[in-house]
Amino acid sequence: MSNTALSVAAAVAKPPRKAEMNTLIYWFRNDLRLHDNPAFNRAATLGSQLLPVYCLGSASAIHNGETRWGVMQPSMHRQRVLFDSLIDLDAQLRAMGSALTVVYGPPADILPKLARAVDATAIHCESIAATHEQSELDQLQKAGAQVISSWQSSLFEPEALPFKVQDLPEVYTQYRRALTRAQVAPVAPLPVPAQLPPLPKTAHGYATVNLAAQLTKLGDSSPEPRASLPYLQAEFAGGERAGLTHLTRYFASALPRQYKATRNGLTGTDFSSKLSGWLASGALSVRQVAQAITHYEQREGLNEGTEWLLLELLWRDYFRLLHLQYGAKLFRYRGLRDKVPPVHHDPALFTRWCLGRTGEPLVDAAMHELLATGYLSNRLRQVVASFLIHELGGDWRAGAAWFEAQLVDYDVYNNQGNWLYIAGMGTDPRGGRRFNVQKQALDHDPDQSYQRLWQTV
Ligand code: FAD
Repeated sequence: MSNTALSVAAAVAKPPRKAEMNTLIYWFRNDLRLHDNPAFNRAATLGSQLLPVYCLGSASAIHNGETRWGVMQPSMHRQRVLFDSLIDLDAQLRAMGSALTVVYGPPADILPKLARAVDATAIHCESIAATHEQSELDQLQKAGAQVISSWQSSLFEPEALPFKVQDLPEVYTQYRRALTRAQVAPVAPLPVPAQLPPLPKTAHGYATVNLAAQLTKLGDSSPEPRASLPYLQAEFAGGERAGLTHLTRYFASALPRQYKATRNGLTGTDFSSKLSGWLASGALSVRQVAQAITHYEQREGLNEGTEWLLLELLWRDYFRLLHLQYGAKLFRYRGLRDKVPPVHHDPALFTRWCLGRTGEPLVDAAMHELLATGYLSNRLRQVVASFLIHELGGDWRAGAAWFEAQLVDYDVYNNQGNWLYIAGMGTDPRGGRRFNVQKQALDHDPDQSYQRLWQTV
């Protein structure tokens, strides 16, 4: 099919008449859900046939191999949660008469071929304001595909903000106050589409990756009893249905009310919401979480716990806006700073940090936990990041890459934003955060139970 046949301008400006065939591809990225997915809804409304696709070779999936920091294989934890999420998405699509086609390879190679095979006029997807993810769209367009991408991963629509994204207040507290003053309210989440267009007939023969076989290939993994986010248990498994069940369970409990008091905990399933994995893969939409907070407050009254939880969701939005504003600048060593002294990346020292062999018991315990479970509390993420940057003199981008490979809740915006912040290369008015590890251990692990749990004392 020619490029002109792929033209989607018509699909945008002038939706085709019902009788016309308009086959579309929906490319799932970090939005692995059917509820509250405006871009998917739009494709389901515009298409007379719809092929839902996921690319295992995309930037939002999992990378194997060589990076500038050495070989970084995605952890088993990350892979398993991703496969579980995709299996769940496929099951839900099948229940509606559709199915998920999962393909290997980079989107720019695969998607145009698929589009030709099914005679698709356009590829719809969510937009992601990060360098690799954005360049995937650029390459797709260069390959002749018509791509319609929409921003949809933040709580607030950029257009609803009391400032232009380009004028995002430099400091988080100023941004938060501006939102409060303007009383911006999130849009209510959308329901799952009532029905889905059928799959294109030609798609039926297209090879799709066998996800169950992929999971089996990962081998038996025995549950880690010390995991704070035990994704091998059905209640914490990847995927939209487990995410929605967790959301209901969490907000039916007393935990949200206690969140402010418990959020600096180091271990256990209850000290924080454990929503991050589902939010990162997009199995849950942030608007759905905000709505659950509102319902909780209507039922239980305003309280510091849910107020604080919402502030964390605002941090999440803030880092997204920062990416919309600064893009590629956030991925250089100096981030938003004009000039910084050069950093020396010492591979041996970095490896010791990764493997939890620094000799600092709290840091080592945390790095063992990360390796063993793919999750780490926010407090410990801050401590180990600060240690790599400010005590070992390491390159924050290497630490961010290690987190990317390990975390079951890896989210490009949150990860990059927090690392930049601690390194002092972002918008932190205090020019970085240096945590005194001994003080952190005394404050947060006074009886050393966490360090004993991970056998570093
Ligand atoms: P809760 O405390 O219950 O918070 C609820 C939600 O708010 C989280 O799920 C998350 O979406 C958001 N949130 C909480 N804290 C932050 C924060 N500091 N910045 C942005 N959003 C926040 N979070 C990720 O989701 N993915 C990452 O890759 C990631 N990398 C991080 C790297 C470093 C160096 C640091 C310091 C923090 C990082 N965070 C990341 C933020 C935070 O640590 C996790 O979101 C949180 O620990 C996840 O557990 P939870 O869902 O129980 O969090």
